[in-house]
Amino acid sequence: MPKVRMRNALKKVSFTRLFAKLKIRRHQHKAIFFYCISLPWILIYLPSVGYGQAKRYKFQKMLMGSPFQLVLYSSSDSVAQEAARKAFVRIEQLNERLSDYRDGSEINRLSATAGKKEWMAVSDDLFRILEISRKISRQTQGAFDVTVGPVVQLWRRALRRNHFPEPQELENVRKAVNYKYIRLRKRNRQVMLTKPSMRLDVGGIGKGFAADEALKIIKQEGISSALIDAGGDLTLADPPPGKTGWTVEITSGNGRDSTAILLLANVGVATSGATYRYLEHEGKRYSHIVNPKTGVGLRFHVRTTVVAPNGTLADALATACSVAGIQKSKKMLRRFPEAKVWLLEIRDGKQEEWKSIP
Ligand code: ADP
Ligand code: MG
Repeated sequence: MPKVRMRNALKKVSFTRLFAKLKIRRHQHKAIFFYCISLPWILIYLPSVGYGQAKRYKFQKMLMGSPFQLVLYSSSDSVAQEAARKAFVRIEQLNERLSDYRDGSEINRLSATAGKKEWMAVSDDLFRILEISRKISRQTQGAFDVTVGPVVQLWRRALRRNHFPEPQELENVRKAVNYKYIRLRKRNRQVMLTKPSMRLDVGGIGKGFAADEALKIIKQEGISSALIDAGGDLTLADPPPGKTGWTVEITSGNGRDSTAILLLANVGVATSGATYRYLEHEGKRYSHIVNPKTGVGLRFHVRTTVVAPNGTLADALATACSVAGIQKSKKMLRRFPEAKVWLLEIRDGKQEEWKSIP
């Protein structure tokens, strides 16, 4: 029986798991080796200390296995604490609705209606994330697609059983993957999934979406200078008081230790890649990011960092660029002139890099 292994290759926390509790088998020695030869880009934020009346507050909470960190500037302890509490509650609420790992979550109940020709009325959160996802799918020509659920499920099963999926199994699930099978009725906030066996999975966008929503809550509480770090993906509001931006250092793992130090505000910064988690089968690695058209985990090693106007778009585009690779991403990103990227790709041992981040 072919052996299937999954490794968590790096120390960096895997933040996609906001909506997931993937059990990862760790193979320490190999993991360390891989870490050495292929350092990822690491996002570090370096907030300033307090300025004037406003103090800097930091809150952290594990949500579905991922550390969520909030950095807020406020002149009041109670305002900062209340804002953080409400922000965490909001993230938990989103997780309850959007996690495909939770039995009975709204998204899973919707997936259960697939192929039944039924319209289901859904929450504003679910409707909006599907609307945004479908738009990004169109703009990325299907590189990003939240209907990858059946494929992701198949790979998860493969992991549990230690058995590589059969080509026929892959072929069967692939047929249920296409964002065009999602129908939306905006007026009644209703959704129909037109293909049997469809399954939605917003793991590639949900973390950014949740961070954007949490920032909205923080702003409603009267705080404008804030940062959310969702396990390495950053969503930024206004800069710390007296500063022109949050200092964000993006370090490349291209072996030359190139870094970009950026002063950013009111943007999302997301990193995505085949590096963190992958399946290994007969010496070949397959990423947890799948190509929706083939149903297979990415084979080439690619790392993407995207800076976009918000966390949602940054998260989704990071996944999309991973699927598209450098050449196709160049063309694809013309539709997103406001997004800046840093892509590293290794195919057949050859390394290529492309950067529109200054
Ligand atoms: P990470 O932050 O862990 O590198 P991403 O933000 O790229 O990951 O999201 C990966 C997750 O997105 C997968 O675990 C899966 O749930 C989902 N996914 C995988 N492939 C795609 C795809 N092509 N389009 C949209 N979502 C995807
Ligand atoms: Mg993503």
